[in-house]
Amino acid sequence: MTSWSCSQHQKLWMRTELQDLGLWPGSPPVRNPGNAISLWRLPPQPQLLDMGAELPSPNFFQLHPFFIWKPESDIMVRLRNNCILPCLHGCPYPNVVSAVVGRPRVIVGTGGQYYIMSSRLCCKACRRFWFADSPRWLEKLPKRFTNLLPAFLTYKKAICKSVMDELRRTGHSPGDMANQVNELMQLKYERAHLAYLHAIESVREAEAGVYGQRTIGRFVRKENTGEKDAWCGISVSSYYLTAY
Ligand SMILES: [Zn+2]
Repeated sequence: MTSWSCSQHQKLWMRTELQDLGLWPGSPPVRNPGNAISLWRLPPQPQLLDMGAELPSPNFFQLHPFFIWKPESDIMVRLRNNCILPCLHGCPYPNVVSAVVGRPRVIVGTGGQYYIMSSRLCCKACRRFWFADSPRWLEKLPKRFTNLLPAFLTYKKAICKSVMDELRRTGHSPGDMANQVNELMQLKYERAHLAYLHAIESVREAEAGVYGQRTIGRFVRKENTGEKDAWCGISVSSYYLTAY
């Protein structure tokens, strides 16, 4: 988890979600993981959480959705049916299992950024390891698996299918598209920060009503300086968008 390149709050939230689904090493099994109906996880809306006397951290307002890509897990059992997952190295009798938790990879779509959380896989027959988003492995999977992925993945780059669609639809140059996506991400960041300020204001007002003239100072956390890297400073260049 220390090698994941995303904010600390994003890491903690993703871990909690994976634990709830029984997809984190050592987490208790979930009764019917095969009944999960979406591989997407949307961030909580912190306004709805009961913060008690604590003010929310601004970083809670800057979480991004993630997509779970664990074809070996119980959550994808219906999709697998009786399909035996192939080994990256072509073993005739592959035995592909999960090895440690995997890692997230950031993707930029027309609706903002998100992560694809891919398993680390191991073939017990040949004892070799790879990540579930390895393009060479994806090629070996039936189309019904890869159709689910929200992005096209190559070795170095990933491009969201929504961005591809938008490029085709509008005929915009990749440069224009990159500017548009960067603007959108900035706007989303600012909007989320405003939501945070509103939440602070509402806590303060409630507090003033209940306790009289107490100041907010007691509750303001030291780290409440805003964490711009919650969106990882992702900047989309046209090069990125023309990878395909
Ligand atoms: Zn193998």
